[in-house]
Amino acid sequence: MKKMIFVILDGCGYTLAKENCGFLEHMAESGQAAKYKVISQLPSMSRPLYATLLSGLSVYRHGIVNNLVSRALEAENLFSLCRAAGLTTAAAAYHWICELFITSPFQPLQDRFVLNSPSPIQNGIYYFEDDYPDSHLFADALFLIAQCEPDFLLVHSMNIDFQGHQHRGGSREQAVAAMKADLLLSAAVPQWLAQGYQVVITADHGMNENGLHGGNTPAQREVPLYLFSPQAAMGIYEERPVDQLLVAPLLCRLLDLLPAAGMQDITALEVVFHGA
Ligand SMILES: [Zn+2]
Repeated sequence: MKKMIFVILDGCGYTLAKENCGFLEHMAESGQAAKYKVISQLPSMSRPLYATLLSGLSVYRHGIVNNLVSRALEAENLFSLCRAAGLTTAAAAYHWICELFITSPFQPLQDRFVLNSPSPIQNGIYYFEDDYPDSHLFADALFLIAQCEPDFLLVHSMNIDFQGHQHRGGSREQAVAAMKADLLLSAAVPQWLAQGYQVVITADHGMNENGLHGGNTPAQREVPLYLFSPQAAMGIYEERPVDQLLVAPLLCRLLDLLPAAGMQDITALEVVFHGA
């Protein structure tokens, strides 16, 4: 059975990752990961793009058109597809993920810890402050792996986005946050690979020099994608940017799930699959 850990580094633009995430870059450079440049959908805004990353639908189709739309995603998504296939699901993520896939509005006392739920995300630990330390978020993820043995786990960090808003895209503070995330991943990823997980690391959107995102510029839309999987050829494939709509069907392909009806055809993505 195929397993996957899907990491979203909120607000981590392509250039920020290249300049600061030395571990991830090393793994791509040394042929241990595949690296892509992804172009986010629009608006380059968190909640709409969480929905897009996990459903494969563009924003006008899934209807989560801005950060203020607080309701459950109605479309089929990675979590619902995993559940239908009998896979175990979990998330260590910002509370908007809980609102999209479990219940809205999020209520901290009831919803911070959700275990053995019949919802699409069976087990979750959700934070609700943007400066919740990424170190704690990764600890939450390790707890869920140890306790729940998920087949599909979403790990969603917020400190890069938070520092970008506080100090602007390209600031020293945002670079420090990206370096911290890379350090946490340098400890976690080898462990996850040894446990038999495939790992995909990307971002929802980037950040501009005003400390904002939402619009249609490369700084706001270009994000990295690092893929660790024995199913795919490793290497650097950043010359031909990839549409963010292809991330969800890529995850389906890696998990041996049939994609949902509304997802894009994976053949548009030039991932080289072994034996395919
Ligand atoms: Zn943001």
